[in-house]
Amino acid sequence: MVATLGYAAAQAQAPLAPFHFERREPRAQDVVIEIKYCGVCHSDLHQVKDEWGGSMFPMVPGHEIVGRVVKVGAAVKNFKAGDLAGVGCMVDSCRSCPSCQEGLEQYCEKGFVGTYNGKEKDGKTITYGGYSNSIVVDEAFVLHISDKLELSAVAPLLCAGITTYSPLRYWKVGKGQKVGIVGLGGLGHMAVKLAHAFGAKVVLFTTSAGKTADAKRLGADEVVISKDPQQMKQHLRSFDFILDTVSAPHDLNAFLALLKRQGTMTLLGVPDKDPSLKIANLIFKRAQLVGSLIGGIRETQEMLDFCAEHGITSDIEVIPMQQINQAYERMLKSDVKYRFVIDMATLKD
Ligand code: NAP
Ligand code: ZN
Ligand code: ZN
Repeated sequence: MVATLGYAAAQAQAPLAPFHFERREPRAQDVVIEIKYCGVCHSDLHQVKDEWGGSMFPMVPGHEIVGRVVKVGAAVKNFKAGDLAGVGCMVDSCRSCPSCQEGLEQYCEKGFVGTYNGKEKDGKTITYGGYSNSIVVDEAFVLHISDKLELSAVAPLLCAGITTYSPLRYWKVGKGQKVGIVGLGGLGHMAVKLAHAFGAKVVLFTTSAGKTADAKRLGADEVVISKDPQQMKQHLRSFDFILDTVSAPHDLNAFLALLKRQGTMTLLGVPDKDPSLKIANLIFKRAQLVGSLIGGIRETQEMLDFCAEHGITSDIEVIPMQQINQAYERMLKSDVKYRFVIDMATLKD
């Protein structure tokens, strides 16, 4: 077994604290990774607080993992000791359903195995995530990381990056389109960078007026304060595509009104309560309201390679492990610029 130290919540709402546990002995296909950095996603917070129900405790969150391979099983083909490696939101899936066969493991019909707060395919072993010093993962779910980019700033690509890259690609966002990004947090700031890199005209919607200059620096052509009805009105019926990354309940109708005929609004945020919908906003424009979940392993590698080629990383604030509970408090106040990343070298009892 691999003795591991992490930070865990003992029960719902509990502050995170040091926690010792064991990872499985590496199997033939497994890669053992020494974790260097782990990003802090708002999903970690939702799950620690059990806002979606069914959380399993103790919980070691973390699914934006980067580190170095220290050991590989006998059958591993694509990694060797010393390689940089990444792990995102999934560590396994059934691998045989139509979704898995298409490389869309996130939509596995049997349910993918989450990196934490999930159960392994044996149906009983609880998974523990990246707020820890090591992880053991089947190589099929491990990503290659370029050494061209700052490693700490790559970590958030493993969730915030792929979760925004996948819908922007699927709905073919690019040149000649006007695209709205709602919320400038972890996901939102990656969406601004990527939509800009794909050539779209990018409008950022925020509730935080203080983020305007940053949004422009990150790639937004225009910034709209979404609480100001006058500013919102100027954009009526003008968007091809809107990507909503907001983590809390909010009014979707105000944004649906901004879509053009046949425009698409994609939801990424998972607030604890579902919003109400004015259906006429869709019917009278043949508009589409859709959702999207992270991205498959193949597409995650494609996104990492795209980011390495174009020099795209996350804007981060590195924190020691001991500051995770304060980081959660700040995240709740939308005070993140624009992703917290834990430096695992600081992890101790
Ligand atoms: P985050 O860093 O906390 O950013 C969320 C942003 O939403 C905030 O920075 C804020 O931006 C805005 N916001 C917060 N409260 C708001 C409110 N009451 N009204 C309007 N805007 C508000 O969170 P994140 O890590 O990017 O995650 C965002 C959401 O996506 C979470 O619900 C998370 O669980 C979910 N998620 C989904 C997937 C998926 O696969 N679909 C993957 C990862 C995460 P402004 O200050 O600019 O307004
Ligand atoms: Zn996430
Ligand atoms: Zn499957």
